[in-house]
Amino acid sequence: MKKELALGMMRLPVDNNGKIDFQETNRLTDYFLEQGFRRFDTAELYHDTCSEHAVRECIVKRHKRDTFEIADKLTSWRIPEGMTAEEFFRKQLDVTQAGYFDRYLLHSVEEKIYPAAEEKGYFDFIFEKKAAGLVRETGFSFHGTPELLDKVLTKYPEVDFVQLQINYIDWDNPSIRSRECYETARKHGKKILIMEPVKGGMLANLQEEGTAILRAVSPERSTASWAIRFAAGLDGVDTVLSGISNMEQMQDNVNTMKDFQPLSDDELKALGKLRAYLTRVPLVECTGCRYCVPACPLELPIPGYISTLNNAQLFGKADGVVRSYKWHAEKHKPSDCVKCECCTAVCPQHLDIPGHLERLANWVKRNGI
Ligand code: SF4
Ligand code: SF4
Repeated sequence: MKKELALGMMRLPVDNNGKIDFQETNRLTDYFLEQGFRRFDTAELYHDTCSEHAVRECIVKRHKRDTFEIADKLTSWRIPEGMTAEEFFRKQLDVTQAGYFDRYLLHSVEEKIYPAAEEKGYFDFIFEKKAAGLVRETGFSFHGTPELLDKVLTKYPEVDFVQLQINYIDWDNPSIRSRECYETARKHGKKILIMEPVKGGMLANLQEEGTAILRAVSPERSTASWAIRFAAGLDGVDTVLSGISNMEQMQDNVNTMKDFQPLSDDELKALGKLRAYLTRVPLVECTGCRYCVPACPLELPIPGYISTLNNAQLFGKADGVVRSYKWHAEKHKPSDCVKCECCTAVCPQHLDIPGHLERLANWVKRNGI
C-alpha cells in the first residue's frame, strides 16, 4: 500500500507579526508538489482563519486543480449562532476557491461534540455533499474513546476514512488509548489517516539522551523521521499528516515518505528503549475519564492540564507543550483552582488533582509562559 504524506496547513511559516508568510509558503508547497506529493489539510480556524486563504493563494491559484488534493473540515463549534452548516461549507468553498474538497471531515469528534453533531445531522450533511459531488471522500478526525469510535463507525459505515491522533509515545497511554482506537478503525475496515505523528513537534526535539538511543541504531535519520515512520508503517494507514513550518522540516518529511521504509526490528527495539527512557519519570496516571470536569465548579479542563503536565515532564518547554498549555488555559488557568476538592471526590484514580494543578501552575511561572 502506498503511503501518502499530507501537508497540514496549521503551522505554516509566519512573518514577524505572526502572519502567514505567503512567499515562503509558496516555496514549501511548490517543493512538496514537485516531489510527487499532493495532499493538503486545512481548517477554518487554523492560523486565525487565514489557513484557507493560504490554500487559495499558494495552491489553488497557482496550480492546476487536478494536481493537488484539499481536505477541509466542518468545525462544529466554529459555526456561529444563526449560520447553517451549509453556509459554513459554502464559505469554505468560497474562501479556498477549491471548487470541491477531496476530503471533508467532521472536525474533532469526541464525547462532548458527538451528541450535538448527531442532533444537527452533520454526518448526513457531509454525505449529502459527497452525493452532490462537492466532496470526494468523507470522514472525521477523532479525539474520543475507542468505545465512542466503535459506536460512530457502526452507525455511519458510509464514512470513507478516520483521522486518528497516533504517535509512538502515546500508543499505549491509558488516557489517550491510541492503539485501541487504531484497532477499532481496523476492525471496521476504515482507511486511517494519522494526525500529529510527531506529537505537535515534541518527538522532533528529544533531549540529548533520548536522541542518542535512536542515533545508536540509525545515525543518519532525524528524530522526527522515527515518529513519521512509526505512524506510516502501521497497516491500513493511508496518509500521515505533518504540520510543516520550514524547508528543513519539509525536506526531512519528504525524504522519509518518498522512499518509505517501515521501522526495522532493530529500530522498533530502539523505540521501545526510548519509550522506557522517556517514561522513567512516573507520570500522573490520569485515564482521561473526565468524571472530574463537571464536578469542578469552574469546569477546569483537568485532564488537559494533567496531560500538559506529563508532557512538560517528558519534553520540557518544547513548543508543542507550550501550545497545548495555552490551548487548555484559554478560559481558565490552573492557578484558578480554589482547592475545593470536589474533583478528588469523584476521581476513580484518587489523584491529588489540586496538587497537580499547582505543580503545573508553578512550572508555567518558572518558565515565564
Ligand atoms: S479543587 Fe480545583 S480543580 Fe478540583 S474541583 Fe475544586 S477548583 Fe476544580
Ligand atoms: S477523574 Fe481523575 S482520572 Fe478521570 S480525568 Fe479526572 S483526573 Fe483524570
